[in-house]
Amino acid sequence: MRRGLLLILSSPSGAGKSTLSRRIMDWDPTIRFSVSATTRAPRQGEQDGREYYFRTREEFQDLVANGQMLEHAEVFGNFYGSPRGPVEQAMIEGRDTLFDIDWQGGQQIRNSALGRDVVSVFVLPPSIAELERRLRGRAQDSEEVIAGRMSKSRDEISHWAEYDYVLVNNDIDTAEQELRTILMAERLRRDRQPMLNDFVRGLNGEFERR
Ligand code: ADP
Ligand code: 5GP
Repeated sequence: MRRGLLLILSSPSGAGKSTLSRRIMDWDPTIRFSVSATTRAPRQGEQDGREYYFRTREEFQDLVANGQMLEHAEVFGNFYGSPRGPVEQAMIEGRDTLFDIDWQGGQQIRNSALGRDVVSVFVLPPSIAELERRLRGRAQDSEEVIAGRMSKSRDEISHWAEYDYVLVNNDIDTAEQELRTILMAERLRRDRQPMLNDFVRGLNGEFERR
């Protein structure tokens, strides 16, 4: 069985990571979403344990101190981190894990012992005007929060070239198709198909029996 891979999606806030994540998991329900822990307050409709584990700063610091975080970072004044246990479990089960994390988290996982299992994808908006429209259209954040996120976008975008793949999310159907293509190709890499050794041995056995 192949090891699960770690699909990391990053983008400036509002470029469409969550939308793409939902779509790719509808397409392949075996993909596990890495539910992050965060100290930020839940948005309307968000449930503890589904979008995030909502934790106090103290609880978050304990998780970090106990080595339970694969990576963690401060984003927009709150802490965010990816719990380690479920990721390791999914890899053993041969299931892929999807991360919706910022560039700091992407960098930490890429530089960790799990680096060779990472496939990283950066999502760019078609324009900055459209990015702002999408942030407002989501209608879940205050003006102040939106302004803060816009001012951070440039910093996030500056890390685009650290990623294996880059998508421009103009049309969502096209972007989803491109993300599927990336995942399909990465799953077919020779080193992700350990079963091929036995398979080719079988083919050779067939040659010998002719
Ligand atoms: P992120 O997770 O990167 O912050 P979201 O997935 O929440 O971004 O998307 C922000 C908003 O933009 C949402 O309202 C979403 O429906 C919308 N959106 C995402 N992709 C597109 C697209 N290609 N065209 C138009 N709107 C989009
Ligand atoms: P939001 O508050 O909009 O849900 O997320 C804000 C930013 O934090 C997004 O860029 C998101 O990708 C990032 N983020 C969410 N979870 C994590 C995490 O576990 N680790 C890191 N490093 N970033 C995260």
